[in-house]
Amino acid sequence: MTDIMNAVITVLYMISAVLFIRGIKLLGKADTARKGNSLSAWGMLIAVVTVLVEKEVIDSGLMGYGLIVLAVVIGAVIGAIWAKKVEMTGMPQLVALFNGFGGLSSLLVALTQYVNTAEAKAFEGITLGLTIAIGAIAFTGSIVAWGKLSGKMFKKSVAIPAKNALNAVLAVAGLAGILVYAFSGANASMGMIGIILVTATYLILGFTMVVTIGGGDMPVIISLLNAFSGLAAAFAGLAIANSVLVVSGCLVGTSGLILTLIMCKAMNRTLYSLLFGSFGASSSKKGAASGKEPKSMSVEDAYLILEAASSVVFIPGYGMAVAQAQHSVKELADKLEENGAEVNFAIHPVAGRMPGHMNVLLAEANVPYEQLKTADEMNPQMANTDVAIVIGANDVVNPSALEDESSPLYGMPIINAFEARTVFVLKRGKGTGFSGVENPLFTNDNTVMLYGDAKQTVSSLVSEFDDA
Ligand code: NDP
Repeated sequence: MTDIMNAVITVLYMISAVLFIRGIKLLGKADTARKGNSLSAWGMLIAVVTVLVEKEVIDSGLMGYGLIVLAVVIGAVIGAIWAKKVEMTGMPQLVALFNGFGGLSSLLVALTQYVNTAEAKAFEGITLGLTIAIGAIAFTGSIVAWGKLSGKMFKKSVAIPAKNALNAVLAVAGLAGILVYAFSGANASMGMIGIILVTATYLILGFTMVVTIGGGDMPVIISLLNAFSGLAAAFAGLAIANSVLVVSGCLVGTSGLILTLIMCKAMNRTLYSLLFGSFGASSSKKGAASGKEPKSMSVEDAYLILEAASSVVFIPGYGMAVAQAQHSVKELADKLEENGAEVNFAIHPVAGRMPGHMNVLLAEANVPYEQLKTADEMNPQMANTDVAIVIGANDVVNPSALEDESSPLYGMPIINAFEARTVFVLKRGKGTGFSGVENPLFTNDNTVMLYGDAKQTVSSLVSEFDDA
């Protein structure tokens, strides 16, 4: 390849890196997110075409070029159909799959590089081994995460005896595999043993690390796996000497790590406890142990209490998203305000199934931004609140997170709905939340259940105000 061609390729890589960085910046705000997404997509297209030119795939005749076009068409069709079909509530499992595919791609890139390498060298061998290790963890970990989030596999956390010791053995054995390969030189069979060891141990490690995590902690683990898939891509970039892969991998890796730290803070966890702690492994079902049955009430009676309330706090959760009740909730909030009540919304950082899920839904229903309060802002006022209306939320208002040390939710900050004078809980039946933990809030003396689909119940309450 000529010097001019090499210079053009470097410039194109730089353009795509700039587009990625600018794209990520724009993704940080809701009103510029679409533009950020499309800039990053253009960056990716430029990067892919440049790689095809650089590696001379474009010149390699119909076999090489034709296969790439076929793969792009198949991938684009599957991606487009999937993106159109996916519900907002199904996003976490889709993201988990994407992370898994990202990890698998890096793993395959590294294995291909291994096959094409005649003699292992120390630095290249270590980068290649690390790509395999992180890619393998991201792959199996994400598949387990997908299974848990979609409810298809491992819904409940699985206890593994001596989990930390087992994980430590696997991690050390895998690292030994990397060293064996990196220093195997021209000894092909030693090299192969090293590669098999690191691949197998880290595929198992991804599984054992994630399968023990309880439902309530999945948001943190998804962002961690996201960071792993980025890191694997960055190492893959080093292994095949591709600068744009290093840049994009680092961007995904660091942004994933920042999100992980934010989620850890929101869930009152540390990165150490996430990786090595035993949280989530408990199968405690405590909470409904009082033996009391929840009280329920008709919409007509609930209206009478709301009509007399001077302060109301809505606490939305996953069920509001399932019921698509946000527009009816806004109508009810307007009726309450017209009736003289002060209305606020208490938003838990992991309510729903993705970060910012509730904010997006409520913004779509034109709920004013000033009414959306964090747990820190709302909890001190909860004891002076006449009615807390819990709409399809469960884990994020579960008091066992504060009181029950054996609960998988223990330590997670919650919205203190239980402190309000009256608590209405809108849900369809006796289903638990995502974590599978029973909720003692439902049997408290000041709690009343309004059973039914959240949208229907809220709409009926609005009708009561209309008819009054
Ligand atoms: P939960 O999943 O804890 O509870 C949702 C409740 O909604 C259920 O108890 C269900 O009860 C009820 N529900 C479902 N459909 C309807 C409906 N149509 N109408 C009325 N109620 C309905 O939700 P939370 O928002 O409280 O908590 C989120 C959980 O998800 C946390 O554990 C969090 O860690 C986890 N998570 C969060 C992610 C994020 O990024 N935000 C990502 C992945 C997981 P019933 O069946 O009886 O109706």
